[in-house]
Amino acid sequence: MDTVAARALQREVLLGFWKAHILHHAAEGPVVGQWMIRELRRHGYEVSPGTMYPLLARLEGRGWLRCRTDPQGGARARKGYSLTPAGRRALTFLKNQVEELYREVVPGEEEAAEPR
Ligand SMILES: [Zn+2]
Repeated sequence: MDTVAARALQREVLLGFWKAHILHHAAEGPVVGQWMIRELRRHGYEVSPGTMYPLLARLEGRGWLRCRTDPQGGARARKGYSLTPAGRRALTFLKNQVEELYREVVPGEEEAAEPR
């Protein structure tokens, strides 16, 4: 896929996938931006710090993540983000939505659609 199309898909769809990834990993323990960037790269996504850090801040602003700064870290302390109870509810909701979408979209497992 060319870069223009990939960027369009990023804006329209993949940002949501990445947010779901972040919530999923933050449920397992605090995540930091650099680790999350590497983890998404492992999944085949190239996400810049200029995209990742605002995403983390947005999820924190929604009340789904809580940010703690390492008190030993000094001026360049890393911020660790973990899931809040509201984040856990959001993640549970998303899991059901992902499952529902998967069943329909991934070939071979769809139910018959309504007649048009
Ligand atoms: Zn992952």
